[in-house]
Amino acid sequence: MTRNLIVENLPRPLHLVIVDDERGITAFIGFVARERGWTVEAAVDEAEFRLAYAGQKPDAIALDLQLGRSDGIEQLRFLAQDRFGGSLLLLSGMDERVLSAARERANSLGLSVAVSETKPIRVKRLHDILEKIERDFAPASAKKSAATRESGQPASVIHPADVRAALESGQTELHLQPILNARDRSVTRLEALVRWRHPIFGMIPPDRFIPIAEQDEATIDALTFWVVETALAHYMKLSRQGFAIPISVNLSRVNLHALDFPDVVAAALEKRGIPPSALSFELTESAALGDPGAVIDILTRLRLKGFALMIDDFGTGYSSLHNLRHLPFSEIKLDKSFICDVLQSRDSLTIVKSVVDMARTLNLETVAEGVESASEAQFLTALGVTALQGYHFSRPLPLDALLNWLHARTPAKAEAHGPDVSG
Ligand code: C2E
Ligand code: CA
Ligand code: CA
Repeated sequence: MTRNLIVENLPRPLHLVIVDDERGITAFIGFVARERGWTVEAAVDEAEFRLAYAGQKPDAIALDLQLGRSDGIEQLRFLAQDRFGGSLLLLSGMDERVLSAARERANSLGLSVAVSETKPIRVKRLHDILEKIERDFAPASAKKSAATRESGQPASVIHPADVRAALESGQTELHLQPILNARDRSVTRLEALVRWRHPIFGMIPPDRFIPIAEQDEATIDALTFWVVETALAHYMKLSRQGFAIPISVNLSRVNLHALDFPDVVAAALEKRGIPPSALSFELTESAALGDPGAVIDILTRLRLKGFALMIDDFGTGYSSLHNLRHLPFSEIKLDKSFICDVLQSRDSLTIVKSVVDMARTLNLETVAEGVESASEAQFLTALGVTALQGYHFSRPLPLDALLNWLHARTPAKAEAHGPDVSG
């Protein structure tokens, strides 16, 4: 049901071009995409692809990397030259490393790869992939329609001003997802994740509006401060019920333009008499490696003021622990793309293991995000991951639901002695 919701909320059907010389694959992907309301065109070789591409501009392209006599990398170069702004779904029958190298190349060409997959793909997985592209589509279409002024489309494209209006009119909500100590399974932290409850479009996920808010410094700043303020209000409510659990807030790299960011945050805590240990911040590795001067200044001062700092989505960027060693992080959050297949993929396992080992020698905590099963939780704990987060324990929840969840885990004890909080 949520699937159709996303498609219906888009200004028009998304258009997919499938480029694969296996007709079975094009038929399968085409069937699933049409079922979701997409329009589809298939091409079995380079010539057909160029023809299809010259016709209706695709919003997404599913591209097989081995395409008869030509190869996918050549097609990537063509797409980069044409400044293709849609999503790419890279497919290959070869091993994961070929795919990830192709993905790197696509990224370096400035193309947006929604996903890279080894064939065959399962129906469920394909639905998830298309749904992800549907979510990603909003910012792309925003850019596109601004550039080309597409006519005849309903104006349901989001602008930064819409995000500010949503903040002001109370349409945003802050959900919290528990992070657990891997050993004793106590709740050590809560991640604050913003949602937008739109009166017409329903719940809009952050992936769809954060990138738009980021187009405008004032908007993303307003959003981040709303998150900080709301997180502090939630923290106070939780504390009153015996759950004084630190809350972790996601920062955008655009937030790091103002050197007084740590001061503004510290003042917000002081106003309420809340200690800095109640708040921590998450920042992706690519954001942390941005403009080193200002970024190091801000991050170091946040640590000096007593806030914990986490590297988010670790493993997805271009950095290594080596070039992050001069940044003042206290924890590493292993990206969920490694966690979700750590039990199946040797490569993911190797990455998780080496990050955990290096983190341990550097005295950094490791959080595995995207833990969806008991067996994953057990396995990651045995590997030495220090904290776990994921649907297996709880989805991100509104405050009341989270309170119920916390109370249910700590019967009687919660009332009598306060929380099972550590860290
Ligand atoms: P993130 O920081 O990596 O947040 C974790 C995302 O993983 C969340 O998605 C969460 O719901 C999801 N997740 C948690 N456990 C599982 C699991 O077991 N399986 C799977 N498949 N997913 C899981 P969400 O809430 O949709 O947020 C998406 C992204 O939006 C966040 O990724 C973050 O980058 C951004 N975001 C959310 N809130 C904020 C915010 O207040 N400020 C900023 N700058 N970005 C935010
Ligand atoms: Ca995060
Ligand atoms: Ca993350």
